[in-house]
Amino acid sequence: MASNRTLQFVSFIFRRTNFCIHTDGTRNISNVGFVGLGNMGKPMAKNLMQKGFKVTVYDINSDVSNSLRNEGATVAKSLAELSSNNECVITMLPNNQHVLDSYSKNDGIINHVKEGTVLIDSSTVDPEVAHKLGPLAKEKGAIFLDTPVSGGVMAAQSGQLTFMVGGPEEGLKLVSKVLLAMGCNIFYCGSHGSGQVAKICNNMLLGITMAGLSEAMNLGIRLGLDPKVLTSVINSSSGRCWSSEVYNPVSGVMENVPSSRNYQGGFLTKLLIKDLNLAKNAAERSSSPIPLGELALNLYNNMTKAGHSDRDFSFIYEFIKKHRNTGF
Ligand code: NAD
Repeated sequence: MASNRTLQFVSFIFRRTNFCIHTDGTRNISNVGFVGLGNMGKPMAKNLMQKGFKVTVYDINSDVSNSLRNEGATVAKSLAELSSNNECVITMLPNNQHVLDSYSKNDGIINHVKEGTVLIDSSTVDPEVAHKLGPLAKEKGAIFLDTPVSGGVMAAQSGQLTFMVGGPEEGLKLVSKVLLAMGCNIFYCGSHGSGQVAKICNNMLLGITMAGLSEAMNLGIRLGLDPKVLTSVINSSSGRCWSSEVYNPVSGVMENVPSSRNYQGGFLTKLLIKDLNLAKNAAERSSSPIPLGELALNLYNNMTKAGHSDRDFSFIYEFIKKHRNTGF
């Protein structure tokens, strides 16, 4: 237990030299409101409770809120009730509109927060959302942080999420212990929207590298190589990437990855497509060319049209393998 704590604090030291911040100056927050109890939010809220936080929950699906009541959560009847009674509010919602509505409508979070409340949006949404909500929160004396996560459902369950944080740095210091109850890495990325920028850049690259790896594996296998041999070569060579090392898309190469269980579970293709579209929109706004990102989006969109949107995204390997030439 002691070594776990040490690990958490060590990982909180930001890895970029200029951003080395320790947990000094954290406020003793004990009451946390949690909105959005889906695949990610529910295990995150449970981890907070297990670490001793008093958690109040709200979800439009009352069944899921009530299921957490049995585990010690207080169930709020509305966003207004949840916001007015907690010094920290976390949201984990599907998309831009859900987040904008939950925070900025008359009966939403910002209208009802107490001064000093820290608002943490861990949903993956457009960086523009944080640009809109940050100043609105400030007008009410609250601090808004865009804090998307990496790690997926398994990391949410095991409390090993990585948080990418944008917004006032003093806000992060206040809630670092709250985040460390749900994750083990925190990166401060800069002003409002920076956390979301980091998230969409990372996920765009993930989509590209998985597609590239799948293409290379398919070529090598068709030319007669054993997939395990090719994987070993790539993992010891310059083509190595996260997908080749820990998430190989070829069935039989690795155990306990989606490709070894018919591409079920894992990171659903439709969620990757959402992130690639966020990257595309941000790229258009900033006139940044993303030729490979767009190509990857087209590939995964075609996979969706073929009926595979609920499979893990590494199914792109099978999708490429099915085609005998370059036409998709
Ligand atoms: P989900 O669809 O499983 O859960 C969303 C929850 O929000 C549901 O319980 C829904 O009832 C609730 N909800 C919707 N609108 C609401 C509202 N107005 N007020 C209160 N509750 C509301 O989604 P998820 O997989 O948990 O993902 C949540 C966010 O996390 C998304 O932005 C997603 O992109 C991001 N994310 C997901 C993963 C993953 O692997 N699932 C990984 C990283 C990031």
